[in-house]
Amino acid sequence: MNNTQELDKKYVLPTYARIDVEFVSGDNARLVDSNGKNYIDFTSGIGVVSVGHANKRVNSAICEQLSKLTHISNLYNIAPQAKAAALIVETSGYNMKCFFGNSGAEANEGAIKIARKFGEVNGEVKRYKIITLNHSFHGRTITTVKATGQESMHNYFGPFPDGFVYAENIQEIESLIDNHTCAVMIELVQGEGGVQPQDKQEVQNLAKYLKSKNILLIVDEVQTGVYRTGNFLASNVYEIEPDIITLAKGLAGGVPVGVVMTSLKDALSAGDHGSTFGGNYLSSTAVCEVVSILNEYSESGELDKTTQYFDSALNNFYAKYPNLFTQKVGLGMMCGLRVKDADTLSKIILNAKDNGVMVLKAGRNTLRFLPPLTITKEEIDEGFKSLNSAVSSL
Ligand SMILES: *Cc1c(COP(=O)(O)O)cnc(C)c1O
Repeated sequence: MNNTQELDKKYVLPTYARIDVEFVSGDNARLVDSNGKNYIDFTSGIGVVSVGHANKRVNSAICEQLSKLTHISNLYNIAPQAKAAALIVETSGYNMKCFFGNSGAEANEGAIKIARKFGEVNGEVKRYKIITLNHSFHGRTITTVKATGQESMHNYFGPFPDGFVYAENIQEIESLIDNHTCAVMIELVQGEGGVQPQDKQEVQNLAKYLKSKNILLIVDEVQTGVYRTGNFLASNVYEIEPDIITLAKGLAGGVPVGVVMTSLKDALSAGDHGSTFGGNYLSSTAVCEVVSILNEYSESGELDKTTQYFDSALNNFYAKYPNLFTQKVGLGMMCGLRVKDADTLSKIILNAKDNGVMVLKAGRNTLRFLPPLTITKEEIDEGFKSLNSAVSSL
């Protein structure tokens, strides 16, 4: 056991089933571990390091900012925060405003607070119910864990906030609405639930119906956002106009940030919500640089090329092992392969690591790929070569 493992075992709460590897450096989709072994990273830190490891532009923007200021507080104007908000809103194409927090769960908490206040001040009765989907994932705080439609996550921590209602699928939502419903919250591609995209027409019909009933549509884009599914937001891909959108994972290249953006610009007033760290100089500088890089990358056509190349490599891989994989799922650079059983999936992930490629699990039986969006063709080829070695013995 090396020193890191000893310290981790002794001093860190065991909330993660850690895989036995310690990375010490990276470059785009490449990683090096403490033994000097090289890997291709098809995980990007669960969709976080969207512009690759050790991105030079992001790092130099951050370093330059840190040489001046890291943090003041939200009591004062923060230039990079204002710039980041403008960049996010302009890129989205929606007429919205942003609030900055530090994580996906916190962004969703903000969304839920906006919806609850909207429901309290709009309508004859107090509206507080929020409908979410089974197999969803919205975070780990007490409220977002309850918003998550997975019974297994509701152990131990109650009593929970009231008012979350779970629908089996998009079609079932309408039948669960009553006069206390203020919002519906969905992921357009369920990430943790198994990389499952929703049907575009069904989502558009739902959005239209909710608008007609004055019920808010919250889209949790913590995983799908920031070009992961082909456009800046999956909401752009699905051609809908949600009332509230949340972002986090890929937004700042690894610097903690969470954003809730909404067209309800007057929903919250001074004192209704806040965050000490949210949108400070460090995180908002990272947001500005990451979004600028990805805007250029998308506009130049490079993102589409990378997505097509990755998709065809994944198709080839999928077609080669009909005994292991039952279905290919996903959207854009958020991809998955359904594995015949959970045991085989665990073996694939460990074998992949031993063969020098990192991949993820989602749901019970989905092999998940969330590579850096800037992954190169060489890195993709190398990763799938290692993955072939990893599964050929299974
Ligand atoms: C990861 C994730 C979250 C939670 O984000 P944290 O930063 O871990 O709090 C919420 N919603 C979705 C869809 C996610 O993928």
